[in-house]
Amino acid sequence: MSAARKNKTKSHNPHKAECIAIKHEGFHVWRCAPDTTRADTMQKLMPKRVEKTFQGSIGLNSRSLKVPAPQKESRRQSQNIYHSQLVEDIKSENFSKQFGRYTIHLTRSLGFCYGVDRAVALAYEACQKYPKKNIYLTTEIIHNPTVNQNFKDMGIRFLSGPHQSAEINDLTKDDVVIVPAFGTTIRDLNVLHNIGCTLIDTICGSVMVVWKRIEKYARNGFTSVIHGKRDHEEIQATVSQMTQHKNAHYLIIKDLNEAMTVCNYILRKKNKKMFIKKFKSCTSADFDPDKHLEKIGLANQTTMLSKESLEIGELFKVCFKEKYGPKTYKNYLMTFDTICQATQERQDSIVALKQKKPACIIVIGGYNSSNTTQLHKIASSCTQSYHINLVDCIINNKKIRHKPYNKKEEIMTSNWLPDGPVSIGITAGASTPNKVIGDVIERIISFR
Ligand code: SF4
Repeated sequence: MSAARKNKTKSHNPHKAECIAIKHEGFHVWRCAPDTTRADTMQKLMPKRVEKTFQGSIGLNSRSLKVPAPQKESRRQSQNIYHSQLVEDIKSENFSKQFGRYTIHLTRSLGFCYGVDRAVALAYEACQKYPKKNIYLTTEIIHNPTVNQNFKDMGIRFLSGPHQSAEINDLTKDDVVIVPAFGTTIRDLNVLHNIGCTLIDTICGSVMVVWKRIEKYARNGFTSVIHGKRDHEEIQATVSQMTQHKNAHYLIIKDLNEAMTVCNYILRKKNKKMFIKKFKSCTSADFDPDKHLEKIGLANQTTMLSKESLEIGELFKVCFKEKYGPKTYKNYLMTFDTICQATQERQDSIVALKQKKPACIIVIGGYNSSNTTQLHKIASSCTQSYHINLVDCIINNKKIRHKPYNKKEEIMTSNWLPDGPVSIGITAGASTPNKVIGDVIERIISFR
């Protein structure tokens, strides 16, 4: 790492620097800590369990795959499988291209992020390296149905999630287990370690930045208040990090409304029973809001809505200033924005797409993909937006099957594509392959 880059990382305080910008521009940009700190981070996070640490490997035992990064060949293989020439063509035409009566506008940032690209390539590499072994994934490799189906078709079995077909306790030391980009819980890592499986670590460096942050809070006696989705694998892995610290506590809040409830309690301490009931499934064991909200540190799941995370940060600042005074509140409140760079770029690029005035925006990605859901939320605030997970969702030029924001089920909408010349915006989550994006565009332009 260059000296200049080192200094930039050390002195960086994105939350403080960018909170003002949110009021004027809606979104902010910052660069998360680089992957190069990964080995150092891992050593600090799991010192008792890690015998050797390698970039690109959990290194829980000497049998772990020692790869600093995916080999060129496996990266090329995964890129070939998920490549779309049509997407590349549109990108080369400044991200907009006309096809008959349709003009397709791609967002400048869409599809696989660096973390997913690396995770998928490492998973292919594991398949090449261990052709005769049983290979498992702790859960979905990423939140995309096409990619998971491909791994299933290659014989990889899943230990949890919608594709589960094996139990962790049935594994043997001869088995290979891939840990996805968003990590897994300390409990599962311990089980796998004790069995002696070979582990392939594809955990994204940006996820580990969050772990490092909450570890710092725990060491300093601060409760971690995390903006995230409590059922998401990344959050489960993140809060499990707390089990390594005695008396460490956490509270997960899903949105600004819940942040307001917490701030109200901090200032007024009313209705403790109701507060405990509301957050029961989102707190550490024995969480006492009277004791454990005295000193807090903020963090967020890497793929949340950045704008909302920053608003939550501002809200807690106002709350702590009122409680402790403007000069001393910083002794009780630590803040840090842990939204990852890829998420931020994809969110910003939808705001830019708005200038093209598309009649609608198609958001492509898994329905359980957090970052895709946030893209859909932003797109819906710009124009008519449809979140689809597969090309088959586009039935024809009259009917589209899609999942509305905050709904669990898909619905069918008629007359989604206007007559005459139409501008259509296309974006996709960080776990959506270009191949799927290209298939969707091909289906749309076939109606021209
Ligand atoms: S979305 Fe961000 S945190 Fe998740 S894998 Fe991609 S780069 Fe890493």
